[in-house]
Amino acid sequence: MNTSTQPRIPEPAAPLPARPLLLDLKPEDWDLAGAPEYRRRQLIEWIYTKRANSFEVMANLPKDLRSHLERHYRLNPLELVTGQGSGDTTRKFLFQLHKGDYIESVLIPASPALYGERSDRHTLCLSTQVGCAYGCKFCASGLDGWKRNLTPGEIHAQIMEVERHGGKKINNLVFMGMGEPLANFDNLMVAIDVINADWGLNIGARHITISTSGLVPRIRDLADQPRQLRLAISLHGASNSVRDQIMPVNKKYPVEELLEACAYFQSKKKKMITFEYILIEGINDQLEQARLLVRHARKLHAKINLIPYNTVEGLDWNRPNRKTIHAFADILKQANISCTIRLEKGHDIAAACGQLRLKQIKS
Ligand code: SAH
Ligand code: SF4
Repeated sequence: MNTSTQPRIPEPAAPLPARPLLLDLKPEDWDLAGAPEYRRRQLIEWIYTKRANSFEVMANLPKDLRSHLERHYRLNPLELVTGQGSGDTTRKFLFQLHKGDYIESVLIPASPALYGERSDRHTLCLSTQVGCAYGCKFCASGLDGWKRNLTPGEIHAQIMEVERHGGKKINNLVFMGMGEPLANFDNLMVAIDVINADWGLNIGARHITISTSGLVPRIRDLADQPRQLRLAISLHGASNSVRDQIMPVNKKYPVEELLEACAYFQSKKKKMITFEYILIEGINDQLEQARLLVRHARKLHAKINLIPYNTVEGLDWNRPNRKTIHAFADILKQANISCTIRLEKGHDIAAACGQLRLKQIKS
């Protein structure tokens, strides 16, 4: 057969091998194949305002541009696996990432005792890493070690996906999900720029709290960068002897150094720091710890968030009884330290960080 007379069938455009995630890049770095600048604004609007979940639906973009984007970029980094609700309206979302890992985010619609005052804020608790390298003895997130950092897009897409599935506009963020946010500092800052941007998710830095187990040099970096982010410290022990037992990070950055870094943060940011204090039976619930905590909180003018321990399957830790919890809290209250006992939101759906993912990995 003489093939020269056959019309030439164009080769199908093969997708590029590893397409980057569009959300990981700043809009000014998106390759739009030479399209005029107003196309970039349209694309931003499709992604962050209209929340399009494919390039195909972006009807006012030319077809060529849409197929160029499709070939060069991925759009959705997270696939919803489960979105469990709980009796107290906390909802926990388990997501699968592009290459199969799992992360989780927790939506807390109203948080009467999250930071003391009653509020109708919709708070989202976000993950920053797959697993965690810090291995706190009580925590589900560190049980299987650290796997990888989340990319900027994987961090901020959690907000977009939860809004898509949860139907509520989120206006308060806490980085208290899986992972150590300050160990993924650069990606976190890039994600926060999109979260803050008026063209992006438009949530102000004042409504964002970063929780850390105590990475001293990164706390200082956080103080030195310009954003007015809030800081929470997972203290969980007021002395080195207690903290050393449960948080290996304390060997590297002991309590005195941690408190100095907090003082530095406060001198730069003029913001009240929160000490998170999980109460674990027989480990850190002694009244001397409460008295020492008063001294630390006074010096720094910090507030304290007491959290009765959430039991984790496979770990041998328990929360103290009510009497002990109240005796501990009374010492703080009598000393006029601003203090809350976090209500048990999400206890029934294993909302302590890393717990839902752990179930998924084991099943
Ligand atoms: N890595 C960061 C942020 C994620 S952990 C940090 O440690 O601060 C978020 C909070 O959940 C921390 O205060 C952590 O100590 C707490 N947490 C972990 N496991 C818990 C459990 N089983 N019950 C209650 N709180 C828990
Ligand atoms: Fe990591 Fe925070 Fe869990 Fe410690 S408490 S293992 S730092 S996630």
